[in-house]
Amino acid sequence: MIETINDEESKSGLNFVEQLVADDLAAGKNGGRLNTRFPPEPNGYLHIGHAKAICMDFGVAEKFGGTCNLRFDDTNPTKEDTEYVDAIRDDIHWLGFDWGDREYYASDYFPQLYDLAVRMIKEGKAYVDHQTSEEIARQKGTPTQPGENSPYRDRPVEENLDLFHRMNAGEFDEGTYVLRAKIDMASDNMHFRDPIMYRIIKTPHHRTGTTWNVYPMYDFAHGQSDYFEGVTHSICTLEFVPHRPLYEYFVKELADDSYCPRQIEFNRLNLTYTVMSKRKLLQLVKEGLVAGWDDPRMPTISAMRRRGYTPQSIRNFVNLIGYTKVEALNSISLLEHAVRDDLNRVATRVMAVMNPVKVIITNYPEGQTETVEMENNPEDSTAGTHKMPFSREIYIERDDFMENPPKKFFRLAPGGEVRLKGAYIIKCEDVVKDAEGNITEIHCTYDPDTRSGLPGSMRKVKGTLHWVSAAHAIDAEARLYDRLFSVENPAEEKDRDFREMLNPDSLKVVDGIKIEPFLAENAKVGGHYQFQRIGYFTLDSDATAAHPVFNRTIQLKDTWEKIQKK
Ligand code: ATP
Ligand code: MG
Repeated sequence: MIETINDEESKSGLNFVEQLVADDLAAGKNGGRLNTRFPPEPNGYLHIGHAKAICMDFGVAEKFGGTCNLRFDDTNPTKEDTEYVDAIRDDIHWLGFDWGDREYYASDYFPQLYDLAVRMIKEGKAYVDHQTSEEIARQKGTPTQPGENSPYRDRPVEENLDLFHRMNAGEFDEGTYVLRAKIDMASDNMHFRDPIMYRIIKTPHHRTGTTWNVYPMYDFAHGQSDYFEGVTHSICTLEFVPHRPLYEYFVKELADDSYCPRQIEFNRLNLTYTVMSKRKLLQLVKEGLVAGWDDPRMPTISAMRRRGYTPQSIRNFVNLIGYTKVEALNSISLLEHAVRDDLNRVATRVMAVMNPVKVIITNYPEGQTETVEMENNPEDSTAGTHKMPFSREIYIERDDFMENPPKKFFRLAPGGEVRLKGAYIIKCEDVVKDAEGNITEIHCTYDPDTRSGLPGSMRKVKGTLHWVSAAHAIDAEARLYDRLFSVENPAEEKDRDFREMLNPDSLKVVDGIKIEPFLAENAKVGGHYQFQRIGYFTLDSDATAAHPVFNRTIQLKDTWEKIQKK
């Protein structure tokens, strides 16, 4: 199912999560406080799916006057790194959200979590198991078959305490011992079958170094971290629904009636023609199948930023798909629509010729240059204008000329006329070819009376072309991106390696495009430019003054129609 419109919004205009929060606030729960959190594990860069969670976590707090914590869920030192912590911070800020001084780390709670584990051991609620993970998995049973008790389940409290301390002291190898909650091996909920609370990990932690040799599992860390921070609404994705009873079970060890965090789940964002698994994204990066986490083809926030997406467009897209309780596959076209829509509002209009062919205007004085005034953004009356040089030799797109055009070809053809946008009407008189028959020059004449502002400017011709003055144009490189995968839902193709489904044409590099001087002088990394009739572009961080590099953010939907209307 491809979902496009959120139809679950209540009449109040609130989505179902906001409605639950509003109800809790109205009921005076948690003393009327609202505190959410966004809890990324720093084991990769954030992707567009995380953006959906961020918009929810920070958005609901903003909407109801609460606060949102940023909590790094750093409980597995083997996969985590400060590079990811920094990238996550940057991406959230770029999206337009701020956590103020509420930056927390699950690792800050290791001492309290350890104390809680010790208390649970003392109360007979936890035990140290000494079996391999395979044995433990075998005893787990199935959803229809109860599991078996571990032979170590009734180990005496003193022995459990001693072993747990020694696990943390580093006496044992990884995988030899685990601490498990003693709940119910026959529970209908598989997560209740004596879940693992702690495992031994000997890799140093990026924040706590070698202080710890045992690390809490997600289920033993998350709810308690929420509790320690005073989080009231722990909003996450649907895969955590079966974890919720366990979340509540552990939280009850700490909470009372006056304050208890509550887990609420919504549907993940899945996008066509890409993958959302951090494990797979990491693989693409590590194996060099993309140029890094911020390769503009990736579904990461940093990649989208580098590609030229605006934060507003991502937020608008998230709004458009909404939050429901039903898993769905969202169409990447909808995201692209949101990007185009926002760029149309903000992008500066410029001229760039992607595949140039030279036009010589034979009746224009040699050596003469004049300047024409170009509107920066017809959608924005405050955007102003910029100047563009016009001269005897210009470049137009090779595709905008045809020697033997079909009937409805409104661009340049022998004997035909077109308008050069913002300048004159020209007429094709002749073409010059090389030995192989390729067109090297198009010879035209211009009508001096047709420049804008002059009486002849009202004269109608069917086609309007973009162009740049040859003597003034600057060479640049353009990187044209297409979808990363060539199948709609790579995650669904279980029997194929996802790497086989990569789109071989996802990047096309075009060198030697010709750009107008204004763009060369003013383009900024993070700026947004509409190459007229071509698409939206941004300057890439690889660009140098001598070699400008532009990423194509997205194509214009209907380039030809757009310019016709102007
Ligand atoms: P993993 O746990 O496999 O490393 P993850 O994508 O769940 O990957 P986390 O860092 O745990 O990564 O995610 C942080 C938060 O972002 C979680 O609350 C999670 O529910 C949410 N989130 C992750 N992926 C999506 C998604 N595709 N759509 C919406 N929210 C998501
Ligand atoms: Mg996760």
